[in-house]
This record gives sequence, C-alpha cells and structure tokens, in this order.
Amino acid sequence: MISFYPGPSRVYDEIPDYVKDAYKRGILSMNHRNTEFVKLCEKTVKLLRSRLGVPPDYTIFFTSSATECWEIIAQSLTQGNSIHFHNGAFGEKWHQYANRIKPGALSNPFNKDEELYPLKAIDTTDVICITQNETSNGTMVSTEIISRFREMNPDHLVAVDATSSMGGIVLDFKSADVWFASVQKCFGLPAGLAVLICSPKAIERCVALDERNHYNSLAFMNEMIAKWQTPFTPNVLGIYLLMRTLKNQDVIEHVDEKMNRRFNAWYSFFEKSESLKPYIKNHDVRSKTILTIEGTPDLIERIRMKALKKGFQLGAGYGQLKDTTFRIANFPAIKSKEIEEVQKFIKKYI
Ligand SMILES: *Cc1c(COP(=O)(O)O)cnc(C)c1O
Repeated sequence: MISFYPGPSRVYDEIPDYVKDAYKRGILSMNHRNTEFVKLCEKTVKLLRSRLGVPPDYTIFFTSSATECWEIIAQSLTQGNSIHFHNGAFGEKWHQYANRIKPGALSNPFNKDEELYPLKAIDTTDVICITQNETSNGTMVSTEIISRFREMNPDHLVAVDATSSMGGIVLDFKSADVWFASVQKCFGLPAGLAVLICSPKAIERCVALDERNHYNSLAFMNEMIAKWQTPFTPNVLGIYLLMRTLKNQDVIEHVDEKMNRRFNAWYSFFEKSESLKPYIKNHDVRSKTILTIEGTPDLIERIRMKALKKGFQLGAGYGQLKDTTFRIANFPAIKSKEIEEVQKFIKKYI
C-alpha cells in the first residue's frame, strides 16, 4: 500500500532497517541521561540545523506532537492572550487549545482563497499564531507575509505551525519566533515526535515568564536542552530515526526544488480534468505539500475506493470536506515512480 495520506504518511523505505539497527545498538533501551543519548541528541539537533537551515541562534527542542507545541506556546510563552489567524480546521483547533489554557484567545478567520493580510495586532495580545500550511484544505501562508506580521508587531512573538510543510519546503526561520512540526508528515517518519524551534526573542520571553507548572514547561525544557536532554523520557527511537533519515537527506533547497516541480506537475495534471478540480482556486495560496481535489461525492467515493484496491491510499477530505474532496500529500518520501503510477490510475476518472 502506497500512502498519499497527508499524515501519518508514507515513511522512508529504510525505516525497518534503521529500527533493526536501533535494536542491535541498544537504542531501544537507552537511558536518556547517559552520554550516548546526549551525543545522539546533539547530533540530531545539528543535522536538523544544517539540513533545514535553522539559524545558529535559534534553539531546537523535541516534543511529542504538534498539539503539545500548541499547549507549550499557550502555557509558557503567552502572558496576555494569543491571536490566531486561520482558514481551516487545524488553525481553528489551535485557537481552541490555546483558549482553554489562556481564555480569551482571539480568533481571526480568513477566506481560504484569500492571501492573509498582515496587520497590527491589538496590544492585549502578545503571541500571533499562524498556520503556515493548513493541512485540512491545502492552503499556505508565505513566509513573506509571516515576516510582515513580525515587522508590524515588534512586541509580539510570531508562532508558526509548519507541521505539514517543515522538511518539505524552505522556511525562512528568521521571519518568526516559534516554529513547530511533527515528524509523521514531511519528515517521512512514524508519529510520536515533534520539533519545536525558538528564536532568541522567544527564549527571552520563556525565561522572563519562567512558567514551571507543567511537565513540559518550556523553562524546564530550555534548561535541559542546554545539556542535550529533555525533562521527560523522550521518544529516543524517534530521535534516532530522525537522525538516520536526516543524514541521508539533501539540503532543504534541493528538496524544495523537487517538491515544487512535483507541485507544478500535479496541478497541470488536474488542469485537464472536467470532473476533478483543485479545491483552492487562488494559485498564490496553494500549499506546496498538500493538494485538495474536489469532485461530486459519488466520484470522490469511487476513486478513493478503487484506489485502495489498486494499492494507493488517497487522503480523505478533512471534516466538512470529507465527501466532496480528497487530498494528496506531496511529501519528500513519496517516489516519482509512485506518483506516475497513481496518476495513471486517476487519469481514467479525469
Ligand atoms: C497534523 C497536524 C497537526 C497535529 O499534529 P499532531 O502531531 O497530531 O499533534 C497540527 N497542525 C497541523 C497543521 C497538522 O497538519
């Protein structure tokens, strides 16, 4: 079965071998306070930095999920309130999670086919939350726009959910203060690990607030990562698998070029279709890593079922879009040959 699901998604073919290696090398029973782990953690952070182009003064943390990162930002980096700009289900959920921890979080919905308009946030808020890649509908916010938000709001932190794009496209980390992603999307790994990246300004805020009420309070995590450790027992296997896959990977600029080529090829493939149309009409806001394709409920259902029989798992539409769309992940772990094969199959329905 070849998964085009936008997460959990296709993992790299090498994963079973790496898991065997991890078993043989004692990684599975590794103590997270010993020097072996410290070395593994440091090496993985360095690889993340070099492969993804994370600035040297940004701090990289390990958490267990993107959802956990939503909570860390609310509990440890938000003093007043956060303000959320969203046009889909994940951005909305982030607002709900933040609102439970810091009631009064502001919600600013925008249209899925509109570019997000940078503005000055009201000063009762101190964190601006943007979903860079909205996995539910296949839209994205450019880093230029994120950067404009940061320039217009020098007293705010700008936090960015890049869960379904980090590792697949170039992200200008300097354009925001907090970035996070879990590894079951563009990193091509099994779920249970996430990466949280903080600017010096975010670390300053963390130290100033000194929030210490949670097992994953960022103040604890910050003290521990200085020693290449985590306050809790982390997903050591996940970190090991991340290290092994990053080692093989090209720098993000090359991955980005490849994803862009595939993105263009996918959209020109569907351009010819009468029955299957891109759900997002505005070219400028289309996600590079998630395609959402619209059709009649009948056709969508038929294609998904037939695809499964052929060994292709297409992503279901998300939430309200379940019956009228399917989604296709454009993630690095998917092979060109697999894209050719699935296109050959979809062609019959175009
Ligand atoms: C998948 C996803 C999440 C949730 O990730 P978890 O690892 O399940 O917490 C959050 N935001 C976006 C944009 C996602 O695509």
